[in-house]
Amino acid sequence: MSSILYLVLPCYNEEAVLPATAAALEKKYHTLMEQGKISRESKIMFVNDGSRDKTWHIITELFHANAMFCGVNLSRNRGHQNAVLAGLMTAREKADVVISIDADLQQDVDAIDAMLEKYENGCDVVYGVRNARDTDGFVKRNTALGFYKLMQVMGCEVITNHADYRLLSRRVIESLSEYGEVNLFLRGLIPTIGYPSDIVYFDVRERQAGESKYTMKKMLSFAVDGITSFSIRPLQLITLLGFVMLLVSIFIIGLTFFEFYTGRTVSGWASSYCSTWFIGSVQLLSLGIIGEYIGKIYMETKQRPRYHIESYLWKEEKSEES
Ligand code: UDP
Ligand code: MG
Repeated sequence: MSSILYLVLPCYNEEAVLPATAAALEKKYHTLMEQGKISRESKIMFVNDGSRDKTWHIITELFHANAMFCGVNLSRNRGHQNAVLAGLMTAREKADVVISIDADLQQDVDAIDAMLEKYENGCDVVYGVRNARDTDGFVKRNTALGFYKLMQVMGCEVITNHADYRLLSRRVIESLSEYGEVNLFLRGLIPTIGYPSDIVYFDVRERQAGESKYTMKKMLSFAVDGITSFSIRPLQLITLLGFVMLLVSIFIIGLTFFEFYTGRTVSGWASSYCSTWFIGSVQLLSLGIIGEYIGKIYMETKQRPRYHIESYLWKEEKSEES
């Protein structure tokens, strides 16, 4: 018997792209069902992440037009990672296997076939890895690659060029549900869960409509989040830096004594001026890094819920539309 596949698509202000996305996915699902690769109970789930435009309205229309579509409406914008999580946790009740993919379908949906094949062959996690970064501008391409490198140097198990296009079996989602962290960084978290996994390569297209919700500022904070949620290496680097600075200061003290006894003490203005600035900025940076971790601990200790679901659009017993 073929498996029940749920696709989870986080949507934030995606009114421009949703109709085309829905049409493409409907076609894909029909093909997969006819080929017997997925069960006819499979669904396409849109998670509305507190959009301010007509996204939820469009999802509602899609749901009424075709039972293949279902929807989850979050109570407000909680960010991409939480929206994906809400979709996964809702889908796990019905699905054997779930694939998360962006609502703009920049990721090639034809990779789903290869993902399902790997799943049938015993993989619980299949990571979608993008082939080339031609569609990104120079800055985005290089900052993204630098980000993966930095993450790996910092000791976090991320897969280069894998974003949130991935297949997860039900048992992986069950395991994921046991992680209660508020600072969610799925692409760092999933590899730590384990189970057999593999990679499928896919091509990336330009965004067909609407615009990217990931501004440079959001990407930077996402990168900082990723590193500080998975690695304490920055804190260890501060200790190392402190040690190196101590050695340097011992040398400078020696030098100062030498200058004092040779009667040239007035000439030290430039060096003391520079070192005051340098040491001051290193201290501030170190405090900032430590503060970043304290902030995380603060957020985690509160154990606040990561999202609230306002309503579902779901045929069968769970249809409580609003
Ligand atoms: N997204 C979301 N909540 C947010 C921001 C983004 O659910 O607060 C969704 C968005 O609708 C899209 C996916 O996350 O489906 C990826 O966003 P986008 O395509 O803008 O990012 P990019 O591909 O430019 O990195
Ligand atoms: Mg996109």
